[in-house]
Amino acid sequence: MTPEVIPLGTASAIPTRDRHLAATALRRDGAMLLFDCGEGTQMQLVRAGLKRTKLEAIFITHFHGDHFYGLMGLLSTLALLERTEPLTVVGPERIEAIVRTLPGLANDWLPYEARFVEVPEDFEHEIVYDTDAFFVEARPVAHRIFTMGFRYEEKPRPGSLNVAQANALGVTDFAHYRALKVGEAVTLESGATVRPEQVIGPARPGSVFAYVMDTRPCENGVALARHADLLYHEATFGEAYAQNARDTGHSTACEAAEIAKAAGAKRLLLGHFSARYDDVAPLAEEAQAIFRNTEAAVELARYPLHPAPVPVD
Ligand SMILES: [Zn+2]
Ligand SMILES: [Zn+2]
Repeated sequence: MTPEVIPLGTASAIPTRDRHLAATALRRDGAMLLFDCGEGTQMQLVRAGLKRTKLEAIFITHFHGDHFYGLMGLLSTLALLERTEPLTVVGPERIEAIVRTLPGLANDWLPYEARFVEVPEDFEHEIVYDTDAFFVEARPVAHRIFTMGFRYEEKPRPGSLNVAQANALGVTDFAHYRALKVGEAVTLESGATVRPEQVIGPARPGSVFAYVMDTRPCENGVALARHADLLYHEATFGEAYAQNARDTGHSTACEAAEIAKAAGAKRLLLGHFSARYDDVAPLAEEAQAIFRNTEAAVELARYPLHPAPVPVD
């Protein structure tokens, strides 16, 4: 399946009637990642029709409650669901001690293994999660307290076999197709040798998703979003409240658009909206003047993550 990004909460600081606290799911091939876990996230997962049992790793950007307080409830629910597979939790240093303090979340109480990956405050950048198919990189961003942004990047997939070309060279055997696909040369009955590069196309790049929450515009925001297929950047305020953004360590919609533009991202989603906005359409409009392919994130909507053509901007 094409991976998809599902915003679960687009509020900042305090939830409103229509907006929930920060959390975003990324669904791919039967597995799920979660970026931030504000209070109420587990209910939003249910409303989104996402199976909590598929959760594989959770990435917490920082210790402000609106990004973090839903983690304990979710871990507890996974225990009640009798999860046995391990779960990875990536977050700032001390996250394990903080979570384990709660009765019910101590080491020997959970029926599954919670694997904590703690990132120290003085780090520069680090691969915090790595699989055969993708990895997640973290970089520090510029908020009031230590905060990380994350970049999900799929590893390139092998190019596809050009069957017509292979046939033309005399390859008709499935065992030979398989060998060529894994990069092995094959020798035909005729004695001729066919090498993979003769019949396999170039490697196909994987898709990239950048999650850049609570931060002032910063260089690491650009690095995380470099050529991303989708950048989800915080836009707590519009231009009229640019001073509030500066004072509180947040970004405006226009600043998020500048980051998307500088990074050569293909698509920008705005979120983490201040409770002062009932309607966030004007924020998206402000950003579109700088980076056209911008939308305000809609909770529970699904944003497919596939390499898209670079927009003309
Ligand atoms: Zn926040
Ligand atoms: Zn914050």
